[in-house]
Amino acid sequence: MSDPRTTMGDPVHLALPHAPPQPAKGCRVCAELVVRRRAAWQRGDLSAATDASVAIRHHPHRGRHRL
Ligand SMILES: [Zn+2]
Repeated sequence: MSDPRTTMGDPVHLALPHAPPQPAKGCRVCAELVVRRRAAWQRGDLSAATDASVAIRHHPHRGRHRL
């Protein structure tokens, strides 16, 4: 039997393997990618939507503090 204590206390959303990556706060590039992704979804362009998600996931999110 598994320890019941290990089944609690993990708020991470593991049930959504296809959940789109979230843009970093304050990252303008990500914000624009999210807009593009939404537009792609709305016109049924899954390829473009996936491209935007991949771009967000791999974006380094360099803000103003680093150049
Ligand atoms: Zn970013």
